[in-house]
Amino acid sequence: MRITFDEQGLHVPEHPDIALIAGDGIGPDVSSTGCAVIDAAVKQAYGGTRAIAWVPVLAGEAAFAKTGEWLPKKSLDLLRACRVGIKGPLTTPIGGGIRSLNVTIRQELDLYACVRPVKWYSGIPAPVKEPEKLDVVIFRENTEDVYAGIEWKAGSKEADKVITLLNSISTGTSHPLLSGQTGIGIKPISEEATKRIVRAAISYALQQGRRKVTIVHKGNIMKFTEGAFRDWAYEVAAEFPQVVIEGKQGAAEGSSTDRRGKPAQPLLVNDRIADAMFQQLLLRPDEYDVIVTSNLNGDYLSDACAAQVGGLGVAPGANINYERGLAVFEATHGTAPKYADLDKVNPGSFILSGVMMLEHLGWQEAAELIVHGLTRAIANKNVTYDLARQMDGATEVSCSGFGREIIRLMGSR
Ligand code: NAD
Repeated sequence: MRITFDEQGLHVPEHPDIALIAGDGIGPDVSSTGCAVIDAAVKQAYGGTRAIAWVPVLAGEAAFAKTGEWLPKKSLDLLRACRVGIKGPLTTPIGGGIRSLNVTIRQELDLYACVRPVKWYSGIPAPVKEPEKLDVVIFRENTEDVYAGIEWKAGSKEADKVITLLNSISTGTSHPLLSGQTGIGIKPISEEATKRIVRAAISYALQQGRRKVTIVHKGNIMKFTEGAFRDWAYEVAAEFPQVVIEGKQGAAEGSSTDRRGKPAQPLLVNDRIADAMFQQLLLRPDEYDVIVTSNLNGDYLSDACAAQVGGLGVAPGANINYERGLAVFEATHGTAPKYADLDKVNPGSFILSGVMMLEHLGWQEAAELIVHGLTRAIANKNVTYDLARQMDGATEVSCSGFGREIIRLMGSR
């Protein structure tokens, strides 16, 4: 049955249709293992009263082979109709005018919030001494910034036209004016897109009982894009009575409750310059909680944070439009073609994206079972090759074997 959405939020039937893009390369391996783990957790949590009805959606190489299109319109329609979906990685077609299938899906469905929770799972080898101190959720704006795709190659007619225009208007600086053979990229940052991502991050922080939201920007240099992002973000923060802005007087009102019914703590909002933030996350990771930032900063920060907890292979992600009730959860790694069909790679990123998806559906019990099983499997050192080679005394298991291990351990105490 279809999930529906209205002003009260998502309405999830007992057997919801969930769109599934298996993905290219290692996608089929991680998604088949991941779906088996999700199905087992749902069955165990709800004794068979709930089950996911997977709806296969064609995209990527499989779609191209069958239809001659990388992302058929029918697939986008199915994603919209199901409202919630999960995907494995997709090959970025070379040539043919498509930038990336992921970017296309995000743009077509206007999935403006890229949400990346990053935390350490006990036992995962990490490059820092205290990886457990990092536990953040990054909200990355997904639709604009230098990813908007407004760019022209050096020497092209369009680049030359823009250069001529720029040279004709006073920039107010003493910089040398642009000459030919200069590539041009445009960085749009709008009030509307900034405000909706910041609103989403603050609402999430309040619902989850988080303590702090940090706005990350490079406003000291790019005043009218990154600086405007910071200013608009603070305007949104001021809309929330529970918010206290760092360095400003005034206590927040404590009358509301979080989603567990506990009195809501005041939520602190502050900002950091992007380069300082990279240092802060390494040196004082436990001072950060929810992070909201523009597209490029968010791209860099999410991967840096994931690496810090040893988790590039297990970092989950989601792309969400909260106003339309649309969400696509995704493994964050690529298609790793050399490992395709070997049943070898780590399915953790897909599985943890599945955990995010179950939480989004309100199926918390099933989500918790998976986290428990995964944590135990890692603690037992029965892991895929990427983790096994970094852990003393580990036993390497296959992709599907890791899934079976998680299922075996999810109900254990
Ligand atoms: P990649 O993530 O596919 O692979 C880089 C290396 O990381 C692999 O060789 C492998 O050693 C390791 N790796 C990746 N996933 C792993 C896993 N689950 N378990 C264990 N090891 C893993 O990156 P790439 O080689 O830069 O990209 C290959 C293709 O994937 C390109 O077409 C690219 O556009 C696409 N891509 C897609 C997505 C997506 O769909 N979300 C993201 C990134 C890249």
